[in-house]
Amino acid sequence: MRDFFLPISFASKFPVLAGITTRSAGNAKFPKKRREIARRLNIPYSRITTGEQVHKNSIAIVREKDLGREFPTTDGLITDLPNVPLAIFVADCPPIFLFHPQRKIVGLLHAGWRSTVANISSQAVEIMAESFGVKARNLLVVIGPHICKECYRVSWSPVAKSFTECFESFGREVLASIISDSPQASQEKFWSIDLAKANSYQLQRAGVLPENIEIIPTCTYDNKNFFSYRRDKTSAGRMMAIIQLNFS
Ligand SMILES: [Zn+2]
Repeated sequence: MRDFFLPISFASKFPVLAGITTRSAGNAKFPKKRREIARRLNIPYSRITTGEQVHKNSIAIVREKDLGREFPTTDGLITDLPNVPLAIFVADCPPIFLFHPQRKIVGLLHAGWRSTVANISSQAVEIMAESFGVKARNLLVVIGPHICKECYRVSWSPVAKSFTECFESFGREVLASIISDSPQASQEKFWSIDLAKANSYQLQRAGVLPENIEIIPTCTYDNKNFFSYRRDKTSAGRMMAIIQLNFS
């Protein structure tokens, strides 16, 4: 592992570059840092394609005319074009990497809590099926470093309420693994939410095989090698999650 970048599993087996920068790569909010990251990874800076990231579930298909742009109101990107780095910027929210090895299609999602309850994961699987005719069972998915369930505590709030409503239909056991009350010394009750598991169950419902979903357990809040919005508040930097099909 190069210390400024954590590559994810399928990148070592297929001609695809995928991974996430660490704190030592600097704050990827800044174009200067993005340019530096691109240079270090040997990816074309001018073709880095992104979304505005508004915590919703819109996903854009990136075509030749879109290279280098930022799609408005978009939290997910999909492309079959090689040599086009898709990027999202995160600090606690899980980045989700999708890859179809046979058809060579990649996707990248920014799956914070709002996007998760808006079903961004299953939306991505559907779009891949509709636009490229690929089957969900052949998709490989990696859910990258994110704030873990223990650290992602909320008081009863729209967050806890939305997750309970969203995952009720998955049954009691799944629901309990995604959201559970967290014991506290104080009177106030808290709920813990597992964003990665939530997305994993949605992906499975959309037809992705459980053995094809990998969750990277690294917690961005606990591990100071990553930026964490919850830990560092407004001073938090952003990591850059990247996926790119390479020419084979
Ligand atoms: Zn944690």
